[in-house]
Amino acid sequence: MSFTASYAPPPAPAAVRFTGVRKSFPDGDHVVDVLRGIDVSIAQGSFTAIMGASGSGKSTFLNCAAGLDTPSGGSVLVGGQDLTALRGDALTAFRRDHLGFVFQSYNLLPHLTVAENILLPTLLGAPPIPAAWQREVLALVGLSDKAQRLPGELSGGQAQRVAIARALATKPAVVFADEPTGALDPHTAAHVLDVLRRTAAQVGQTLVLVTHDASVAASADRVLFLSGGVIASDLHRPDAAHINQRLSHLSEVR
Ligand code: ADP
Ligand code: MG
Repeated sequence: MSFTASYAPPPAPAAVRFTGVRKSFPDGDHVVDVLRGIDVSIAQGSFTAIMGASGSGKSTFLNCAAGLDTPSGGSVLVGGQDLTALRGDALTAFRRDHLGFVFQSYNLLPHLTVAENILLPTLLGAPPIPAAWQREVLALVGLSDKAQRLPGELSGGQAQRVAIARALATKPAVVFADEPTGALDPHTAAHVLDVLRRTAAQVGQTLVLVTHDASVAASADRVLFLSGGVIASDLHRPDAAHINQRLSHLSEVR
Protein backbone atom coordinates (compact mmCIF):
# COMPACT_ATOMS: atom_id res chain seq x y z
CA MET A 1 0.00 0.00 0.00
CA SER A 2 1.35 3.41 -0.92
CA PHE A 3 0.41 6.83 0.38
CA THR A 4 2.56 8.63 -2.15
CA ALA A 5 -0.29 9.67 -4.39
CA SER A 6 -2.20 11.47 -1.65
CA TYR A 7 0.94 13.43 -0.67
CA ALA A 8 1.98 14.35 -4.22
CA PRO A 9 2.25 18.14 -4.55
CA PRO A 10 -0.38 19.78 -6.76
CA PRO A 11 0.81 20.11 -10.38
CA ALA A 12 2.72 23.35 -11.01
CA PRO A 13 0.75 25.90 -13.04
CA ALA A 14 1.71 26.03 -16.70
CA ALA A 15 4.35 28.61 -17.61
CA VAL A 16 1.90 30.00 -20.17
CA ARG A 17 -1.73 29.02 -20.66
CA PHE A 18 -3.92 30.41 -23.47
CA THR A 19 -7.65 29.82 -23.21
CA GLY A 20 -9.73 30.83 -26.21
CA VAL A 21 -7.31 33.62 -27.12
CA ARG A 22 -8.50 35.77 -29.99
CA LYS A 23 -6.86 38.83 -31.52
CA SER A 24 -8.28 41.06 -34.22
CA PHE A 25 -6.82 44.17 -35.76
CA PRO A 26 -8.84 46.89 -37.51
CA ASP A 27 -7.93 47.12 -41.18
CA GLY A 28 -9.73 49.94 -42.98
CA ASP A 29 -13.45 49.30 -42.69
CA HIS A 30 -13.16 45.68 -41.55
CA VAL A 31 -11.16 43.65 -39.02
CA VAL A 32 -8.53 40.99 -39.53
CA ASP A 33 -8.83 38.01 -37.19
CA VAL A 34 -5.21 37.05 -36.56
CA LEU A 35 -5.71 34.66 -33.62
CA ARG A 36 -9.06 32.85 -33.79
CA GLY A 37 -9.29 31.00 -30.50
CA ILE A 38 -6.01 29.55 -29.30
CA ASP A 39 -5.95 26.99 -26.49
CA VAL A 40 -2.52 25.87 -25.43
CA SER A 41 -0.55 25.17 -22.29
CA ILE A 42 3.24 25.50 -22.22
CA ALA A 43 5.03 23.51 -19.51
CA GLN A 44 7.43 25.17 -17.08
CA GLY A 45 11.08 24.75 -18.00
CA SER A 46 10.29 23.61 -21.53
CA PHE A 47 11.58 24.95 -24.83
CA THR A 48 8.81 25.62 -27.37
CA ALA A 49 9.36 26.79 -30.95
CA ILE A 50 6.62 28.71 -32.78
CA MET A 51 6.56 28.35 -36.55
CA GLY A 52 4.27 29.41 -39.39
CA ALA A 53 4.22 31.44 -42.59
CA SER A 54 4.90 35.15 -42.56
CA GLY A 55 1.73 36.91 -41.36
CA SER A 56 0.38 33.80 -39.63
CA GLY A 57 0.34 35.58 -36.26
CA LYS A 58 3.54 34.33 -34.62
CA SER A 59 4.52 37.77 -33.29
CA THR A 60 0.94 38.46 -32.23
CA PHE A 61 0.91 35.15 -30.33
CA LEU A 62 4.19 35.98 -28.59
CA ASN A 63 3.17 39.57 -27.80
CA CYS A 64 -0.08 38.36 -26.22
CA ALA A 65 1.82 35.74 -24.20
CA ALA A 66 4.33 38.35 -22.99
CA GLY A 67 1.77 41.01 -22.12
CA LEU A 68 3.06 43.35 -24.85
CA ASP A 69 -0.32 43.17 -26.57
CA THR A 70 -3.82 42.58 -25.21
CA PRO A 71 -5.99 39.81 -26.67
CA SER A 72 -9.40 40.77 -28.05
CA GLY A 73 -10.86 37.78 -26.20
CA GLY A 74 -9.90 34.84 -24.01
CA SER A 75 -7.33 34.72 -21.24
CA VAL A 76 -3.57 34.45 -20.93
CA LEU A 77 -2.13 33.01 -17.71
CA VAL A 78 1.58 33.24 -17.01
CA GLY A 79 2.66 31.14 -14.03
CA GLY A 80 -0.98 31.20 -12.92
CA GLN A 81 -1.30 35.01 -13.14
CA ASP A 82 -4.03 36.20 -15.51
CA LEU A 83 -2.32 38.88 -17.64
CA THR A 84 -5.66 40.05 -19.00
CA ALA A 85 -6.62 41.04 -15.43
CA LEU A 86 -3.56 43.32 -15.05
CA ARG A 87 -3.49 46.90 -16.29
CA GLY A 88 -0.95 49.71 -16.56
CA ASP A 89 1.75 49.74 -13.88
CA ALA A 90 0.76 46.32 -12.50
CA LEU A 91 1.23 44.73 -15.94
CA THR A 92 4.53 46.58 -16.48
CA ALA A 93 5.83 45.41 -13.09
CA PHE A 94 4.74 41.81 -13.73
CA ARG A 95 6.48 41.80 -17.11
CA ARG A 96 9.62 43.37 -15.66
CA ASP A 97 9.87 40.87 -12.79
CA HIS A 98 8.74 37.63 -14.45
CA LEU A 99 9.26 37.85 -18.21
CA GLY A 100 12.19 38.35 -20.54
CA PHE A 101 11.89 39.33 -24.19
CA VAL A 102 14.54 39.18 -26.93
CA PHE A 103 13.71 41.16 -30.08
CA GLN A 104 15.18 40.71 -33.55
CA SER A 105 16.42 44.31 -33.39
CA TYR A 106 18.27 43.84 -30.01
CA ASN A 107 16.70 47.04 -28.53
CA LEU A 108 19.85 48.04 -26.60
CA LEU A 109 20.21 51.63 -25.40
CA PRO A 110 23.12 53.08 -27.40
CA HIS A 111 24.42 55.48 -24.71
CA LEU A 112 24.58 52.81 -21.99
CA THR A 113 27.46 50.36 -21.65
CA VAL A 114 26.91 46.61 -21.97
CA ALA A 115 26.87 46.29 -18.17
CA GLU A 116 24.38 49.16 -17.84
CA ASN A 117 22.13 47.69 -20.54
CA ILE A 118 22.04 44.41 -18.61
CA LEU A 119 21.13 46.31 -15.43
CA LEU A 120 18.39 48.25 -17.23
CA PRO A 121 15.51 46.29 -15.64
CA THR A 122 16.79 47.34 -12.20
CA LEU A 123 16.85 50.99 -13.31
CA LEU A 124 13.18 50.46 -14.15
CA GLY A 125 12.46 49.17 -10.65
CA ALA A 126 13.32 45.44 -10.75
CA PRO A 127 15.05 44.04 -7.63
CA PRO A 128 18.85 44.49 -7.61
CA ILE A 129 20.93 41.98 -9.57
CA PRO A 130 23.77 40.64 -7.37
CA ALA A 131 27.24 41.52 -8.74
CA ALA A 132 28.28 37.84 -8.89
CA TRP A 133 25.24 36.98 -11.04
CA GLN A 134 25.91 40.02 -13.27
CA ARG A 135 29.40 38.64 -13.93
CA GLU A 136 28.09 35.11 -14.42
CA VAL A 137 25.42 36.14 -16.91
CA LEU A 138 28.01 38.05 -18.95
CA ALA A 139 30.26 34.98 -18.86
CA LEU A 140 27.35 32.72 -19.91
CA VAL A 141 26.93 34.76 -23.11
CA GLY A 142 30.71 34.97 -23.60
CA LEU A 143 31.07 38.73 -23.14
CA SER A 144 33.03 39.03 -19.89
CA ASP A 145 35.56 41.33 -21.58
CA LYS A 146 32.91 43.65 -23.09
CA ALA A 147 31.18 44.97 -19.94
CA GLN A 148 32.35 48.56 -20.45
CA ARG A 149 31.78 48.72 -24.22
CA LEU A 150 28.96 50.64 -25.90
CA PRO A 151 26.52 48.76 -28.17
CA GLY A 152 27.90 50.61 -31.22
CA GLU A 153 31.26 48.91 -30.64
CA LEU A 154 29.78 45.40 -30.86
CA SER A 155 29.00 43.06 -33.74
CA GLY A 156 25.38 42.01 -34.33
CA GLY A 157 25.97 38.65 -32.69
CA GLN A 158 27.56 40.28 -29.64
CA ALA A 159 24.73 42.84 -29.39
CA GLN A 160 22.14 40.07 -29.44
CA ARG A 161 24.06 38.19 -26.74
CA VAL A 162 23.86 41.36 -24.59
CA ALA A 163 20.10 41.41 -25.18
CA ILE A 164 19.96 37.73 -24.13
CA ALA A 165 22.01 38.49 -21.00
CA ARG A 166 19.60 41.33 -20.18
CA ALA A 167 16.59 39.04 -20.68
CA LEU A 168 18.15 36.46 -18.33
CA ALA A 169 19.62 38.78 -15.69
CA THR A 170 16.46 39.14 -13.61
CA LYS A 171 15.97 35.34 -13.82
CA PRO A 172 12.51 35.68 -15.35
CA ALA A 173 10.35 32.56 -15.36
CA VAL A 174 9.72 32.79 -19.10
CA VAL A 175 11.90 34.13 -21.90
CA PHE A 176 10.23 35.02 -25.21
CA ALA A 177 12.31 35.50 -28.35
CA ASP A 178 10.83 36.67 -31.67
CA GLU A 179 13.12 35.58 -34.51
CA PRO A 180 16.10 36.74 -32.43
CA THR A 181 18.66 35.78 -35.04
CA GLY A 182 16.79 37.05 -38.11
CA ALA A 183 19.34 39.84 -38.60
CA LEU A 184 22.43 37.64 -38.20
CA ASP A 185 24.44 35.52 -40.64
CA PRO A 186 23.78 31.74 -40.33
CA HIS A 187 27.01 30.94 -38.46
CA THR A 188 26.53 33.73 -35.88
CA ALA A 189 22.82 32.88 -35.64
CA ALA A 190 23.61 29.27 -34.73
CA HIS A 191 26.03 30.41 -32.03
CA VAL A 192 23.63 32.99 -30.54
CA LEU A 193 20.76 30.47 -30.45
CA ASP A 194 22.99 27.94 -28.80
CA VAL A 195 23.84 30.53 -26.12
CA LEU A 196 20.14 31.33 -25.64
CA ARG A 197 19.13 27.66 -25.33
CA ARG A 198 21.96 26.71 -22.99
CA THR A 199 21.60 29.70 -20.68
CA ALA A 200 17.80 29.33 -20.47
CA ALA A 201 18.23 25.63 -19.63
CA GLN A 202 20.93 26.42 -17.06
CA VAL A 203 18.70 28.97 -15.29
CA GLY A 204 15.70 26.59 -15.57
CA GLN A 205 13.72 29.05 -17.67
CA THR A 206 10.85 28.37 -19.99
CA LEU A 207 11.83 29.43 -23.51
CA VAL A 208 9.32 30.33 -26.24
CA LEU A 209 11.04 31.09 -29.53
CA VAL A 210 9.67 32.14 -32.92
CA THR A 211 11.86 30.76 -35.68
CA HIS A 212 11.78 30.00 -39.41
CA ASP A 213 14.65 27.55 -39.05
CA ALA A 214 13.64 23.87 -38.92
CA SER A 215 17.02 22.83 -37.52
CA VAL A 216 16.57 25.27 -34.62
CA ALA A 217 13.00 24.10 -34.02
CA ALA A 218 14.27 20.51 -34.07
CA SER A 219 16.14 21.20 -30.83
CA ALA A 220 12.91 22.26 -29.08
CA ASP A 221 10.81 20.04 -26.82
CA ARG A 222 7.74 21.05 -28.78
CA VAL A 223 6.90 22.88 -32.01
CA LEU A 224 3.62 24.76 -32.49
CA PHE A 225 2.60 25.66 -36.05
CA LEU A 226 0.27 28.62 -36.56
CA SER A 227 -1.96 28.76 -39.61
CA GLY A 228 -5.35 30.35 -40.26
CA GLY A 229 -5.37 31.90 -36.78
CA VAL A 230 -5.19 28.57 -34.94
CA ILE A 231 -2.57 26.03 -33.89
CA ALA A 232 -2.62 23.84 -36.96
CA SER A 233 -0.08 21.38 -35.63
CA ASP A 234 1.55 20.56 -32.30
CA LEU A 235 4.57 18.26 -32.43
CA HIS A 236 6.66 16.90 -29.58
CA ARG A 237 10.39 16.53 -30.21
CA PRO A 238 10.07 16.38 -34.01
CA ASP A 239 13.16 16.07 -36.21
CA ALA A 240 13.98 18.67 -38.90
CA ALA A 241 12.65 16.48 -41.73
CA HIS A 242 9.29 16.11 -39.98
CA ILE A 243 9.14 19.88 -39.34
CA ASN A 244 9.89 20.71 -42.98
CA GLN A 245 7.26 18.22 -44.12
CA ARG A 246 4.68 19.88 -41.85
CA LEU A 247 5.66 23.38 -43.03
CA SER A 248 5.30 22.45 -46.69
CA HIS A 249 1.95 20.76 -45.96
CA LEU A 250 0.72 23.95 -44.23
CA SER A 251 1.74 26.15 -47.14
CA GLU A 252 -0.18 23.81 -49.52
CA VAL A 253 -3.42 23.99 -47.55
CA ARG A 254 -3.35 27.76 -47.15
P1 ADP B 1 4.04 36.89 -38.14
O1 ADP B 1 4.86 37.28 -36.95
O2 ADP B 1 3.66 35.43 -38.16
O3 ADP B 1 4.67 37.30 -39.43
P2 ADP B 1 2.21 38.92 -37.17
O4 ADP B 1 1.70 38.44 -35.87
O5 ADP B 1 3.25 39.98 -37.16
O6 ADP B 1 2.64 37.66 -38.07
O7 ADP B 1 1.00 39.50 -38.02
C1 ADP B 1 -0.16 38.72 -38.32
C2 ADP B 1 -1.16 39.59 -39.04
O8 ADP B 1 -1.63 40.61 -38.18
C3 ADP B 1 -0.62 40.28 -40.27
O9 ADP B 1 -1.62 40.27 -41.26
C4 ADP B 1 -0.35 41.69 -39.79
O10 ADP B 1 -0.48 42.61 -40.84
C5 ADP B 1 -1.44 41.88 -38.75
N1 ADP B 1 -1.01 42.80 -37.70
C6 ADP B 1 -0.06 42.54 -36.77
N2 ADP B 1 0.08 43.58 -35.92
C7 ADP B 1 -0.82 44.52 -36.32
C8 ADP B 1 -1.19 45.81 -35.86
N3 ADP B 1 -0.61 46.37 -34.78
N4 ADP B 1 -2.17 46.47 -36.52
C9 ADP B 1 -2.78 45.93 -37.59
N5 ADP B 1 -2.50 44.70 -38.09
C10 ADP B 1 -1.54 44.00 -37.46
MG1 MG C 1 6.69 38.16 -36.71
